[in-house]
Amino acid sequence: MAAIDLKTQIMGLVSLQELDSEIYALKNELAAKPQEIKALEESFETKKQGLAALEKQSLDLQKQRKEKELELATNTEAVKKLNSQLYALKTNKEFQVMQQQIADAKADGSVIEEKILISFEESDKIKAQIDQENAKLKEEEKNFLQQKKTIQERTEEINGRLSQLDAERKRLLVGIDPKMFSEYERILQSRDGLAIVAVKDNSCGGCHMLLPPQVINLIKMYEHIITCEVCNRILCIKE
Ligand SMILES: [Zn+2]
Repeated sequence: MAAIDLKTQIMGLVSLQELDSEIYALKNELAAKPQEIKALEESFETKKQGLAALEKQSLDLQKQRKEKELELATNTEAVKKLNSQLYALKTNKEFQVMQQQIADAKADGSVIEEKILISFEESDKIKAQIDQENAKLKEEEKNFLQQKKTIQERTEEINGRLSQLDAERKRLLVGIDPKMFSEYERILQSRDGLAIVAVKDNSCGGCHMLLPPQVINLIKMYEHIITCEVCNRILCIKE
């Protein structure tokens, strides 16, 4: 009864393949998870950098303003000094020259004051942007943590399912001939987790190559394991 035996063995491999296809897909999904988390973290870090840049801009503005304020104080002091000297002058000519100097210094002071005012306005704008960015970032953080949690939960789910599948696989292996199993495993490793495929529309279910009628007949005879000439996968007929 060798023919019946081979058919049973092949059906065993088909069941094994169902498990292995799920295992293969889950392991691929699992392998991608650390990268998914890393991408989320990087994206969130980039968003934080926007806020950091705004905060730096705000500090720079404050620093520049402090300098301008010092400049203005020096200018005010200079105007005061010139004014005090004004009435000690002897000639009308000297008086006119100094008055011009005072006017120039005051004009310089106005320019500095204007710059300080503009700087305050810019600071207000940036502060508003910072508030906005902070609110946005809080929302982003919530999303980021939620997405990360989803990935972690899925990872646990996959690991749980994988140990379940592993146990099922061990049970199935009991009924499969070791030599046949090692052949199956060899193809599984080299063919993207797909070792045994059903014939569909007279073609190989793995590489879709059309199979000659005599090959299909050979499969149905269950005397030998028949593999696809193109992709080397074991062929079977699903009844
Ligand atoms: Zn093929």
